[in-house]
Amino acid sequence: MSGDGPAPVESDPRASVRKRVFVVGAGIMGSGVAAQCALAGYPVTLEDVSEEMARRGLANAERALGRAVERGKLSAPDRDAALARVDIAIGFRRADAAQIVVEAAPENLALKRSIFRELEAAASPTALLASNTSSLPITSIAQELTDPGRVVGIHFFNPVLQMPLVELIPGHRTRPEVVASARAFAESLGKTVVTSADTPGFVTTRALAVLVNEAAWMLYEGVATRDDIDTAYKLGFHHPMGPFELVDLVGIDTAVAILDVLWDGFRDSRYRVCPLLRTMVAAKKLGRKTGEGFYAYPEAK
Ligand code: NAD
Repeated sequence: MSGDGPAPVESDPRASVRKRVFVVGAGIMGSGVAAQCALAGYPVTLEDVSEEMARRGLANAERALGRAVERGKLSAPDRDAALARVDIAIGFRRADAAQIVVEAAPENLALKRSIFRELEAAASPTALLASNTSSLPITSIAQELTDPGRVVGIHFFNPVLQMPLVELIPGHRTRPEVVASARAFAESLGKTVVTSADTPGFVTTRALAVLVNEAAWMLYEGVATRDDIDTAYKLGFHHPMGPFELVDLVGIDTAVAILDVLWDGFRDSRYRVCPLLRTMVAAKKLGRKTGEGFYAYPEAK
């Protein structure tokens, strides 16, 4: 591409291997994405708002790779080589060295919009800009950019090293070569890619939200007990976890936030949040992270 048009984003799949990846947000997902990229040979910069958060993310990446060694999926020398490829940063000053940027900041539209505005200024004009959002439309995240065509959704799953799926979400303005480049990047990490239209919750989060919400409604209405509902989903559908075990892992606040995004996007009563979930958020019973949700986790307190 030439002239005044947007700068091309590199689309040769082989060319994306070993480019530098800049990960924004060193939380649960950012640390997992960093570990996964480093394992695939990419040099990675893991960024957060403070040194403490970035270091915590790096420690989480180290733990995730350590668990892969324990499970016999990775050799200790390969773990060490991967870890040597990860460094940390505070702020976006070093984003310009990367060709792939993956944003994994909290699920908040205003925050993500402002991060992408900053990234547009700080990153190389040819870098791929991806969001790991689990529910927010990519078109909305990118709408204030001069070049929204370079933004794409690359939705990883938790825990990143173990989950084989990536959901690819082209926004309404995303250029085809950007989508191709994002797919090549995800496949270079060993992931299987499914593509979703840019509607709230995409495929997976929409399905998950309804599943969890319906379970909460059944408990709320007294249809069955917590344990019987979890057992029914596990033994009846071969789900590895029941809906209450799952929402405790994801975070009940996160589940409510996602249902609100779906409600805002579709105005469909399917996404009407069960009041029990809102009450639990108000009571700070958020799941594993607060030590109590539908189950108790005394060790997390
Ligand atoms: P998290 O809260 O664990 O991590 C978010 C990190 O972003 C924190 O370390 C925080 O300090 C940092 N951060 C906040 N503001 C920032 C800024 N302005 N710049 C850089 N970093 C900033 O959240 P998470 O669970 O890792 O989720 C991150 C994203 O991934 C969200 O969009 C979420 O919807 C999505 N996601 C989460 C899961 C999951 O199971 N947790 C799964 C798939 C996708």
